[in-house]
Amino acid sequence: MFVVKVGGGAGIDYEVFLNDLVRHRDYLLVHGGSHELNMLSTRLGVPPVFVTSVSGFTSRFTDRRTLEIFNMVYAGKQNKLLVEKLQALGVNAIGLSGLDGRLLEGRRKRALKIRRGDKKVVLRGDYSGTIEQVNADLLRLLLNHGYTPVICPPAISHEGVAINVDGDRCAAQIAVALQAETLLLLSNVPGLLRDLDDETSLIREIPRAELDRFMEEVAQGRMKKKLLGAKEALDGNVARVIIGDARGPAPVTGALCSGTGTVIER
Ligand code: ADP
Repeated sequence: MFVVKVGGGAGIDYEVFLNDLVRHRDYLLVHGGSHELNMLSTRLGVPPVFVTSVSGFTSRFTDRRTLEIFNMVYAGKQNKLLVEKLQALGVNAIGLSGLDGRLLEGRRKRALKIRRGDKKVVLRGDYSGTIEQVNADLLRLLLNHGYTPVICPPAISHEGVAINVDGDRCAAQIAVALQAETLLLLSNVPGLLRDLDDETSLIREIPRAELDRFMEEVAQGRMKKKLLGAKEALDGNVARVIIGDARGPAPVTGALCSGTGTVIER
């Protein structure tokens, strides 16, 4: 089986992506919604705030109001749109956020240690964290009865509070929990680029032993999280991770059958 995560960036045509996805069997879909969330939160007067942790990873500062809008976009609009489109294509999709049935449970990080210029600052009131446990029984129950789960953040903290978690790492954890063979992380770039301004500078393969170096030296911003997710999946016994483009005419088939994108093998 494979786990595919489709990003929420600008420029992705979900119709084309899903038409290609349904040509395959035995998969589970994880999705993002970042672009839509940025637009809606701005319209609602809560513009997005991104922070960089002391270890160099970028994430969204998620206060309670942002979390509410996050739910509207991820668990609402995006999730139901994908479920609707899959249903129209004859797939019995079922949408779940990480809250439902404690599907994705983790630890809330109450204080964020971030960099602001040269200074280190502690930010409080953030609702985000990391997944520590996936309810694989629930996923198997659904898969064994012919349902195709369509999954999105937020996750749930051990105390039962919604937390924003990274979508790529979420897909990685699910792939590990189900011991999937392949994890596909599809977004609006061809894969890991040596030069972000040049789409032809695609790195076709990352040797497993050099993943850390690529994470530090080549990936910037959000791409770092994708490589971190890839690392977590491979460490958890997933055989292959492909970071690919969700925008082409056959994004899933291209990645799965021809290795289009950046491939990292265990
Ligand atoms: P999604 O929401 O679709 O998962 P992200 O925005 O999280 O996508 O990550 C993809 C983004 O990572 C790209 O749009 C790009 O701006 C950024 N990025 C940073 N460094 C790189 C790199 N070296 N190669 C490709 N993309 C990169």
